[in-house]
Amino acid sequence: MEFRYFDAHTHAHFPVYGDERDEMVKRAADEGVGMITVGTRKDTSLAAVTLAEQYEHMWAAIGLYPGHTVASFHDEDELGVVGQNETEGPESFDYDFFKKLAESEKVVAVGECGLDYPYCRNEEEKEIQKVEFIKQIEFADEIKRPLMIHCRDAYGDVADIFKARGTARSHVMHSFRGTIEEARRFVEMGFYFTFGGVITFRPKKDGVNYTDVIRSIPTDRLLSETDAPWVAPVPHRGKRNEPAYVVEVVKKLAEIKDLPPEIIREQILENTRRAFSIDI
Ligand SMILES: [Zn+2]
Repeated sequence: MEFRYFDAHTHAHFPVYGDERDEMVKRAADEGVGMITVGTRKDTSLAAVTLAEQYEHMWAAIGLYPGHTVASFHDEDELGVVGQNETEGPESFDYDFFKKLAESEKVVAVGECGLDYPYCRNEEEKEIQKVEFIKQIEFADEIKRPLMIHCRDAYGDVADIFKARGTARSHVMHSFRGTIEEARRFVEMGFYFTFGGVITFRPKKDGVNYTDVIRSIPTDRLLSETDAPWVAPVPHRGKRNEPAYVVEVVKKLAEIKDLPPEIIREQILENTRRAFSIDI
């Protein structure tokens, strides 16, 4: 197929899509949308790879989400209703499992992993998240793939970790919601930034002005995403999100950057090829 757009962070394999999954994935293909479907634990990472292997326009990221390194709420969209557990985990990064999974040519990133401090009830849990994150940084170095980093209220610590270790790769900050100053630190380290539906309906949130932050990031570091099934962009607010809607995110990025939509669309494809070594 001819690729026109790319959803760099989505969860097409999650149970929430049920019987409608194949149609949803095909709607993306009809729009020329490629995608990376992202795992959050062992089971969802295996499901991501299994699904990606069925479609020409889908790749996978595998890893352990920071929320799952400590006990977390059971999310039916993500994990289905089987078992009906109120809490899940904690899970620890299983090197042997992920190493085997990474043998698939469809695995193009490690994540989503990172730090999510609002999940933590105490300092000890923050330390657990850091330990699990560092295991995945080492794993990404070993298998030579970029990290797909999830971060909430912890950009300073994420940047400090990379500063202390040094990093040989350009990693990806998923759904970036930091400040201009925080963005600058990651730009200097060669990182990429994905933005999703939130920029279409909430230009400012908790002191973060997306418009100003996006304008401060070089255009050759921008990527687009949906984080489907959550946070659908305008004009699909209130509906279940899906990768085809990434078209709206790209439109908004063009508007914010004050560039013709075709220019930003092509640039994002080019950035995607470079960030993930994907041949699209
Ligand atoms: Zn996600």
